[in-house]
Amino acid sequence: MTFANLGLSAPIVKALEQKGYKEPTPIQLKAIPVVLKGRDVLAAAQTGTGKTAAFTLPIMHALSKSSSSKRQIKALIITPTRELAAQIQDNLNLYGKYLSLKNTVLFGGVSAGPQIQDLKYGVDIVVATPGRLLDLCDQGLCNLEAVEMLVLDEADRMLDMGFISDIRKIVKLLPKKRQNLLFSATFSKEIRVLTKEFLNDPVSVEV
Ligand code: AMP
Repeated sequence: MTFANLGLSAPIVKALEQKGYKEPTPIQLKAIPVVLKGRDVLAAAQTGTGKTAAFTLPIMHALSKSSSSKRQIKALIITPTRELAAQIQDNLNLYGKYLSLKNTVLFGGVSAGPQIQDLKYGVDIVVATPGRLLDLCDQGLCNLEAVEMLVLDEADRMLDMGFISDIRKIVKLLPKKRQNLLFSATFSKEIRVLTKEFLNDPVSVEV
């Protein structure tokens, strides 16, 4: 099975070939076609399985095909730490090098100035940790009304870190009609509660 067989577009496949990826990993094989169909996904995957590409690739594919080319936040990826946020952005830049999508990453502990500037210029994809994202939204600097796709990455860690109430507040700012992807290494009772709350008839994928 190749990335092209999974339905990803030529500019993305070309970037993957240049990166030297020969074939999709098991989580990518299972998740990408389901995300491309527009379904919500509940994915059990550890770091190191290729899970980041399992959501970034179909998101970039979908947005690059989307009818609206207006620069507004259409995909929101929420992740627990700034290191993970930076890694996800690296992935977006690498796999999206032949696309014209723009992204920015929002996390705390650094000056918000450059982040606010990126938001003003306009981006298609935001990668964020919950606190800084909510802070910028509360200040009216980040508009989430056009979000079509939401990813909760490492959801179990976000719960462990006490981000649940921030996540609830963020999700309230999103359109009701959207596609939701939840990635978690473990499936506790709390994750199942979160799934019931935020996902709509999800397809479960496990590796
Ligand atoms: P992740 O699980 O997203 O942290 O990815 C783990 C590592 O696998 C990263 O360094 C990726 O660049 C790499 N990777 C992701 N997908 C593939 C693939 N299909 N083939 C080879 N390496 C990959």
